[in-house]
Amino acid sequence: MTRHRDVELLAVGAGPSNIALAVALEELAPVDLARNSLLIERSETVAWQRGMLLPWTQAQVSFLKDLVTLRDPRSKFSFLNYLHSVDRLNEFVNLGTFTPYRTEISDYLQWAANTLSTVRVEYGRGCASIGPVMDSNGVLTGWLTRLADGSTIASRFLSIGVGREPNIPEVFLRLPDRRLIHSTQYLPRISEMSKDLPYHVAVIGGAQSAAEMLYSVQQDLPSCRATMVMRSIGLNNYEHSKFTNELYYPSFTDEFYNALPGAREQFLRELHRTNYAGLNPALLDALYRQLYQERLVGKQRIQMITMTDVTGARMDSDEVVLELTDRKTGGVSELRCDLVLLGTGFAPRMPRLVRHLSSALRLDRIAVTRQYRLIVDGPATAACYLQGVNEATHGIADSLLSVLAKRASEITEDILTWRPSLQPRHQPGQQPPSALTPSQGATQVLGIS
Ligand SMILES: Cc1cc2nc3c(=O)[nH]c(=O)nc-3n(C[C@H](O)[C@H](O)[C@H](O)COP(=O)(O)OP(=O)(O)OC[C@H]3O[C@@H](n4cnc5c(N)ncnc54)[C@H](O)[C@@H]3O)c2cc1C
Repeated sequence: MTRHRDVELLAVGAGPSNIALAVALEELAPVDLARNSLLIERSETVAWQRGMLLPWTQAQVSFLKDLVTLRDPRSKFSFLNYLHSVDRLNEFVNLGTFTPYRTEISDYLQWAANTLSTVRVEYGRGCASIGPVMDSNGVLTGWLTRLADGSTIASRFLSIGVGREPNIPEVFLRLPDRRLIHSTQYLPRISEMSKDLPYHVAVIGGAQSAAEMLYSVQQDLPSCRATMVMRSIGLNNYEHSKFTNELYYPSFTDEFYNALPGAREQFLRELHRTNYAGLNPALLDALYRQLYQERLVGKQRIQMITMTDVTGARMDSDEVVLELTDRKTGGVSELRCDLVLLGTGFAPRMPRLVRHLSSALRLDRIAVTRQYRLIVDGPATAACYLQGVNEATHGIADSLLSVLAKRASEITEDILTWRPSLQPRHQPGQQPPSALTPSQGATQVLGIS
């Protein structure tokens, strides 16, 4: 493969955010921009939340919140057109649901990526780092992306859609990797374990991912027993009100973005249980029924410990020992187990790639405009868009499918507003640009003229 390439727009991560952007570029942008856009993905395929692609799980949003429908219901990239093209439309209609299986959303995303005709998608291309490129006047003119294989891609526009990083509470960091599985790694890691051992599994967390792992692990490790440890007073359904669900409309992003800090904080606090801290009612019911039946026959395979913090974790010969602190009494006890499954969600911080890029740019804080463009100091003829990580400024739907279609068109429009006034970055045949690294100042002049 060529060691250095130049594209106009590079999108890093082929998740829903950047696939929606690729579709918007094909449908809304001039063909020369779409043709000069490249989407790279570190895996060999597209998969939606690969680690938790459990066959029985359903999406929690309507199929109408797909990559395109809310911005253009006539687009050929709709979920309905996908169903039609895989010959499952009648059956889906007959199923009578708004919430497809997670696996079919995943398949839809791969189908959409395969259906792109102008924007290119390349798999097995992990991005290792991104640096800014400045001209001799200190103007930010582009980005230099270094891939895991050592090759580089220069671009004027960049869209980072790499998802959020797993939240691994510090107390678990002392455990060896082989005893700890975060939900993002659940399926590949659990499939490597020998099935017949009588593991005792601790599942940490009290929301959807933890509950899904608790349910799944009983089939995946058929001889295991499992203990769920949570800080909350017990499992809860996620809140669902048609009134507050209106706050997931793409049109609500403006209202949230323009709200006072206190109001933003109230929105996020009150909406927390609609997305983060609750379970799908069917799963909650299934788990309660299982507990009830186990009590009935006097043989408990699963157990729940509520209002409890894990305050320590260590190995004792071949066993994991978790120190549990009861929030009601302050009492401390031990839970001995073989494996810990973490349903502890995602870290609120920006992804590593973005943090490193911002330190190379010497930014005091990482923030984006309403159009998701990273705010940089000083003059720039290049732009970087951040997708799925702007909950604090763009609202709770930012990391979800709900706003994807509209966000992709807003980013495309922002690029199209800038683009005509920009000069070509550098002439064909010129040396590849150099990027600033975090240790160099963003004011230092490097690279192309
Ligand atoms: C278990 C689970 C269930 C969910 N269910 C729902 C739901 O029902 N409804 C909903 O709206 N939202 C749901 N979500 C939220 C989810 O975050 C969004 O639906 C959506 O996946 C976000 O898309 P994204 O493209 O921003 O990020 P992601 O989907 O995380 O995609 C990021 C992509 O970037 C790739 N990548 C990462 N790093 C690199 C790199 N360095 N180089 C190249 N590629 C890279 C990854 O492999 C991945 O393909 C769920 C999340 C989880 C964890």
